[in-house]
Order: sequence, then C-alpha cells, then structure tokens
Amino acid sequence: ILGSVGIEAVLDQLRIKAMKTGFEFNIMVVGQSGLGKSTMVNTLFKSKVWQSSLPNLELPMPQTLELHSVTHVIEEKGLKLKLTVTDTPGFGDQINNDKCWDPILSYINQQYEQYLQEELLITRQRHIPDTRVHCCVYFVPPTGHCLRPLDIEFLRRLCRTVNVVPVIARADSLTIEERDAFRSRIQQNLKTHCIDVYPQKCFDEDVNDQLLNSKIREQIPFAVVGADREHLVNGRCVLGRKTKWGIIEVENMAHCEFLLLRDLLIRSHLQDLKDITHNVHYENYRVLRLNESHL
Ligand code: GDP
Ligand code: MG
Repeated sequence: ILGSVGIEAVLDQLRIKAMKTGFEFNIMVVGQSGLGKSTMVNTLFKSKVWQSSLPNLELPMPQTLELHSVTHVIEEKGLKLKLTVTDTPGFGDQINNDKCWDPILSYINQQYEQYLQEELLITRQRHIPDTRVHCCVYFVPPTGHCLRPLDIEFLRRLCRTVNVVPVIARADSLTIEERDAFRSRIQQNLKTHCIDVYPQKCFDEDVNDQLLNSKIREQIPFAVVGADREHLVNGRCVLGRKTKWGIIEVENMAHCEFLLLRDLLIRSHLQDLKDITHNVHYENYRVLRLNESHL
C-alpha cells in the first residue's frame, strides 16, 4: 500500500533537518592570471538567483595576489546555503611555471587535513565545519588551439585531488565555430591524457545519471563570459559586458554558457559534488594519511 512506510514523513524530516543545518558549498577558481577568475566570482554572486538578498559588490577589481575566500549566505524558501568561493592568484606569470600548482593543491589538502583532525578528536563536534573544496573551476585560455602542456599537467594533478570543471575563459573572443572546435579538441586532449573531470563517468550511479551526465560531459568545457556590471537592455537590467558592437549578456544562453556552469554547480549537482568530495577525494586523503601515521 502506498505510503505505508511513511516515506513522506521521512522526507519531511530530512527537509527540516536541512533547513536547520543548511548547506555549505565551496568553490575554487583556478587558472592563469587575466582569464577572468575574479570577475567570475562576482558574476556568480551577482547572478540573478539571489540578487535580491545580496549587498552590492561594486568593488574595483585589483589583481589577486593571494588565496582569498568570499562567503555569502543565500536563503531560499527557508533553506540556507552558505556559498564560499575561493579566488586564487593566477599562475603562469613566471617564465618557469614549475610547480605552480603547489599552492593550490596544498590549500585543498589543508582543508582535508583540518576536517580529518576534527574527525579524529575524541569529542567530535556534531557538525564539523566544512571548508573542503567541493568543486574547482579551471579556466582554460581561449587560444582556440588545444590544451597547453601546462594546463594538462595542472589538470592531471587537480583531478586526482578534487572535482574539476574546466571552462573556456573569455569565450567572447571566439566565434561560435571556434568555440565548438576548441571544445572538441579539449575533450579529446582530456581523454588522451586520462584526465577525469567532473562529472566522472565511473561515479554515475544509474541509467538516469548516465543520461543526464553524458549530456553534460558533451558540453564541458562550458564557454563562459564573466561580468560584474549591469546594463539596461530593452528595459531589463542585465549582467553583461558592453562592447562597441553591443552588450554580451552573461545570463543569456544565446551569448555564452555561464548559466550551464552556474546551474551545474549550485543547482543540479551541488549535493553530488559534496558527496564525491566526501566519499572519494576526502576518503583518498584520509586513507593515505592514516596509513602514513601507522607506519
Ligand atoms: P583574473 O586574473 O583571472 O582574476 O582576471 P580578472 O577577473 O581580474 O579579469 C582580468 C580582465 O579581464 C579584466 O579587465 C576583466 O574585466 C576582463 N574579463 C573578465 N572576464 C572576461 C570575459 O569573459 N571576457 C572578456 N573579454 N574580458 C573579461
Ligand atoms: Mg584575480
């Protein structure tokens, strides 16, 4: 008989629990300097979903010199989402980019370590604050060619440690054909070098996941444009970049794929990104560390 197990009541309890604790979600942006990472952080926060509840962020954009996190609590229907985006200084300014991934990887590992230390305490907190990076957005420069050796080296290391979603940065500099060709070449490069970006095929749980995620896998890397200014277009206020020939609207799918990125991260795959972070990436770290200390 339908409902005899009381599934509805269980779902209610889960919902109430989620309302009480809220969600913590942490994103990191990584890539060479000048590709629009800091702008994208603002774009994410300013984008329409939660605009009303946010203070205005009219800050000038200095060059990012160190790792820096911005947190906003977003509330929707009584549910709280604590969204933190960590901005990173761009690498690739040096002639020698050897080990430019070290500061990024060590930040990610430090967050795992902090979580592990909390878990290992005899009296554990009921809720361990979660600063672990749930998704790392990697900015690929819009060269139109293919991934550079530096991107490949970086991505390879990153993917072993954290969920990675690559994006084609400053996509307004590519024509539609160039975007598509570039995207296919990047997908080919990733395959050739066994770089497993999010959503990883091996973690699809059922046929539905497979269907949904294969579609996403075809669209990745998303071609994105960032902007932190608003402009009036036909009486509407839109986030966009004003050029001599018109306004590139960030939240218009006809202009770029920012919406695909935002929806993947903050809507459709938020919980999955958290689950994979906890069950796979953090677990790998934990096993490694505990084995180490038992030697
Ligand atoms: P970061 O070094 O990666 O943090 O890059 P910034 O966000 O500081 O941006 C560097 C410059 O690129 C700034 O002048 C931005 O206004 C500009 N910019 C950011 N995003 C885009 C984009 O999508 N398209 C274009 N054309 N310029 C962008
Ligand atoms: Mg920056």
